[in-house]
Amino acid sequence: MSGALNGVAVGGVASGDDGLPWIDSHIGGQRVRGGGAVWVKQDPARGTPIGRVAAADAADIGTAIAAARDGQARWAALSGAERGRVLQRAAALLRARNDALAALEVADTGKPIQEAAVVDVASGADCIEYYAGLAAQLNGQQLPHPNALIYTRREPLGLCVGIGAWNYPLQIACWKSAPALAAGNAMLFKPSELTPSTAVELAEVYLEAGLPPGVFQVLQGQGPTGEALALHPEVAKVSLTGSVPTGKKVMAAAAGTLKRVTMELGGKSALIVCEDAELEEAVSAAMLANFYTQGEICTNGTRVFVQRALLPRFLARLAERTALLRVGDPADPATEVGAMISAAHGEKVLGLIRRGVEEGATLLCGGGRVDVPGLAGCFVAPTVFTDCRDEMTLVREEIFGPVMSVLAFDDEAEVIRRANATRFGLAAGVFTRDIARGHRMAAALAAGVCWINNYNITPVEMPFGGARESGIGHENGQVALDHYTQLKSVYLELGRVACSYR
Ligand code: NDP
Repeated sequence: MSGALNGVAVGGVASGDDGLPWIDSHIGGQRVRGGGAVWVKQDPARGTPIGRVAAADAADIGTAIAAARDGQARWAALSGAERGRVLQRAAALLRARNDALAALEVADTGKPIQEAAVVDVASGADCIEYYAGLAAQLNGQQLPHPNALIYTRREPLGLCVGIGAWNYPLQIACWKSAPALAAGNAMLFKPSELTPSTAVELAEVYLEAGLPPGVFQVLQGQGPTGEALALHPEVAKVSLTGSVPTGKKVMAAAAGTLKRVTMELGGKSALIVCEDAELEEAVSAAMLANFYTQGEICTNGTRVFVQRALLPRFLARLAERTALLRVGDPADPATEVGAMISAAHGEKVLGLIRRGVEEGATLLCGGGRVDVPGLAGCFVAPTVFTDCRDEMTLVREEIFGPVMSVLAFDDEAEVIRRANATRFGLAAGVFTRDIARGHRMAAALAAGVCWINNYNITPVEMPFGGARESGIGHENGQVALDHYTQLKSVYLELGRVACSYR
């Protein structure tokens, strides 16, 4: 969706007095309508407008920065236990509002309600709860020395920016804000233009939980708003979830003032099924790793390597079970595969499917649009390609849709080499009953996260981040606190200044 100036038609809908609600920014503890470009937010499944959004302009950003400065000073002055108490309340409020927030997320993203009702809000609340518990445990070290007392302090960075993708909007806002706030920072969060709704509700939740105004703010906007935040001299850190090209742009913008960055970017991950794997488990994981959230998940195991002896049985069960998947209205609890985030993204996914056919891959399942009666959104059938070769476009490029490529392999060394032959390095998976082999392969795979006998499981205790061009730094786990703090060393002299000067 492209932006437009105030009052100008966007996405085929005239901006005016048509009763469409505004989806505001949240600045200084209040919902605020930005002064910048206006666009209309569509429901991806229905293709109908659900709200109008105004980007934060330079003046809004200035107001937010000033509010963040004040709020952060008050917030950082609290003890860790006090900050933790506020975060605990926020987690409880999120859980209490699970159903309403999940419904809002479905209207924004087009993902099935059966997923959003149990994953999106809950995983955000889990994360806030986890860092609430760690807020009082942020500590430094005392380092032994004969002539000095030396210790380190973990101090907040100050003003941090979070920029989100559209696939897990609320979860991403929680994953970025929870460690930032636990460590005493303020966060300015820019959601994707395609999914502006739930971050604003998170800001309301934080406020109700007792967070001082200005400590978590939401600035609606498109690329330029994100860029303005990444360039801003008062911002100390930027955490982005998005594509590799955007990651490179944000890093370049952040470099001007040497901001710290966390980059959670794209992938083309390998899921390796060895011949001794438990077949049904491996098929379940391959389906989840490709069709959950209609395939719009960064870590998806889209290159499924299956050892040749198991391949015929694997494909037979995969085809049988994929045929049972229910594509439909995301608001229907029976639906398992929802709508693509936008018509443009759906066309991109369908184009890559056509390319796969042209390049000689064999379609086992799916391969086109699904008409869902009464809904104008773009729905893509869960698609499985076999007879894939490593050099095919669909095997090399991130598709971000329900499209699985199955590739045959013969031995372990070969599959590791092929799995690692990519510039991405987000995730990987291995299915085997041989535990030594599982660990050996996990060690050899060039990826930030490796699962053995499961896929796409991201408990908050586990650091999450990509290798190579898939990312820098981590979210979740204790390590994320390192990315939101600055280590200060303090040296107290216990002796005398050793001075050779007269
Ligand atoms: P984009 O890279 O298009 O956008 C990500 C965010 O960056 C959006 O909020 C976007 O704004 C903003 N943005 C765009 N241009 C700039 C800029 N120049 N400066 C600052 N901000 C900018 O990604 P998508 O939203 O399309 O998300 C899909 C991508 O995200 C996939 O590649 C996927 O793999 C990756 N992803 C990675 C995850 C991970 O944890 N590793 C998790 C989820 C997704 P706007 O959209 O409003 O224009």
